[in-house]
Amino acid sequence: MSCIFCQIAQHEVSANIVHEDDHVIVFNDLFPQAPVHMLIIPKTHYSTLNDIPPEDTTVFSLMHRVAAKLAHDRGFADKGYRLTLNCNRDGGQSVYHVHMHLLAGRPLLWPPG
Ligand code: 5GP
Ligand code: ZN
Repeated sequence: MSCIFCQIAQHEVSANIVHEDDHVIVFNDLFPQAPVHMLIIPKTHYSTLNDIPPEDTTVFSLMHRVAAKLAHDRGFADKGYRLTLNCNRDGGQSVYHVHMHLLAGRPLLWPPG
């Protein structure tokens, strides 16, 4: 398996890990686009959002719970933040292991580019 995010989840490739539990791991993005830019990934490999099977009804709630807890613990929950999921080419996906971007620390523009 040559998936870089699986390798990070298995501690085979180093990353600045900020949270880990049985299902989810969170690490800082290598090329941050905001003062806070973390990636929340399931430990299970799904290439894109299209590949999450209907039986897996918990993956997003687990990722969201971790995001909300990090936002609270780090003090930017009230000020605000953005969770982003990119899918395939037009969605701007570059790493093919499902991940949620957690962006915070500055006003974020809308609509995105
Ligand atoms: P995407 O463009 O697929 O939505 O997001 C992939 C993100 O992964 C990008 O923001 C990119 O900077 C980040 N990234 C790519 N390779 C690595 C890596 O090896 N380590 C870390 N920490 N982030 C990475
Ligand atoms: Zn993977």
